[in-house]
Amino acid sequence: MNSPTHVIAGALIAQGVMIYRDRHAGPVSAVLCGVTTIVAGMVSHLALDALPHYDWIVYLNWFPGLSGDPFLCEALCTVPMSAVGWYAGREHPVILGLGMFSAMYPDFEKVAYLVFYMPQQLVIFRAHSLRLSIPHYYWPRPALIALELAIAGGSAAATLWLAAWRRRR
Ligand SMILES: [Zn+2]
Repeated sequence: MNSPTHVIAGALIAQGVMIYRDRHAGPVSAVLCGVTTIVAGMVSHLALDALPHYDWIVYLNWFPGLSGDPFLCEALCTVPMSAVGWYAGREHPVILGLGMFSAMYPDFEKVAYLVFYMPQQLVIFRAHSLRLSIPHYYWPRPALIALELAIAGGSAAATLWLAAWRRRR
């Protein structure tokens, strides 16, 4: 899926971990929270990519002629979701950062391998990162976009709701 969806999924996972962290201080809890956030973030990426989707943001073409156009479109669209994640989880910047980074990590290594020729031995998620694959399951594009927007919007709403609930406690 597109970066904004992965980033907000990472922010939502981080928000869940923060509920535990708020009640369990100390270094053991810190390590547990960090590891849980990283593993869950990466799993969320692979799970979302297994759903029918279409990387429509890559084709927005907001900067025609510019070589990094797809990356710029992705980065710009990711700003609002990063802002929601930051607003909801700013008390725990490390957990938040780990969540958003690990939820994006498989795509970072895909770009590193496919665009910047990173050695194949360094690729962790081979089935995901060694190829450009977009499973659409023959869904019409508007349906694919609607599904992804619903997932991203739902995750953003859940992140904000969880943050409000966590701060009330
Ligand atoms: Zn991916």
